[in-house]
Amino acid sequence: MNFHVMTLFPEQISGFLGESITGRAQANGLIQLHTYDIRDFTLDKHGKTDDYPYGGGSGMLMQVQPIYDCYRYVKRHIPDDSKVRALYMSPKGRKFDQKMAEELSTLDDIIFLCGHYEGVDERALELTGCEPVSIGDYVLTGGEMPAVVIIDAVSRLIPGVLHGEDSSEIETFHDGLLEYPQYSRPEVFEGLKVPEILLSGNHGKVDEWRRQQSIKKTLELRPDLIDESRLSKKELKYLRSLDINTES
Ligand code: SAM
Repeated sequence: MNFHVMTLFPEQISGFLGESITGRAQANGLIQLHTYDIRDFTLDKHGKTDDYPYGGGSGMLMQVQPIYDCYRYVKRHIPDDSKVRALYMSPKGRKFDQKMAEELSTLDDIIFLCGHYEGVDERALELTGCEPVSIGDYVLTGGEMPAVVIIDAVSRLIPGVLHGEDSSEIETFHDGLLEYPQYSRPEVFEGLKVPEILLSGNHGKVDEWRRQQSIKKTLELRPDLIDESRLSKKELKYLRSLDINTES
């Protein structure tokens, strides 16, 4: 998987993704991160990439020319038969979620356009066809953190990036439920004991307990996620036996 990030702040991207699991995935060749400094493409002799918006209003806008030339440069380095999508990080976009991460993880190349200041000249989106994607209903100063969030979430779905083969298969959101509670050593800490069932060695019972705990946690914290059609008869009975007030 190739991630191409067009940004005014390449170090923000490479710094974060160069560490830990995504850093190791790059070293192992499982993902490739290419950053492009939009400033390198400006034709302005002072290196300017932003200007005042026509019609007035506060703040500066990223200009279309450097973005478009940067995009054309990126496209020249992607093979014609590659499965590729171009995304503009924007609070106005489709909300990113685990389903979209799964969708994106099947591509060969993803191009990111990171906005800054008041955003980008609308023509940059028309010319590049970048789809607006938001990481949530709040406004950040730039699209770099959103791009990093998406690259991180997509990378961990690529086979081999996580060491445990099925580590992303049993996680929160994977099957519409939140993950069950987890415990590690010691068995007792500050008087709090690890649930007995986890020490029993009975894998069938442990699996059943974990599934029930997932249902319980989801009902407590994110009742909107529960899809009853994905639960077995026994699990539905368990769900109905729970007496949890989900109104807040
Ligand atoms: N004026 C823009 C608006 O009202 O939609 C907001 C611009 S914001 C200050 C600067 C840049 O940060 C945006 O161009 C975008 O790339 C990025 N950004 C801010 N919040 C975001 C979010 N929730 N999701 C994705 N990108 C975001």
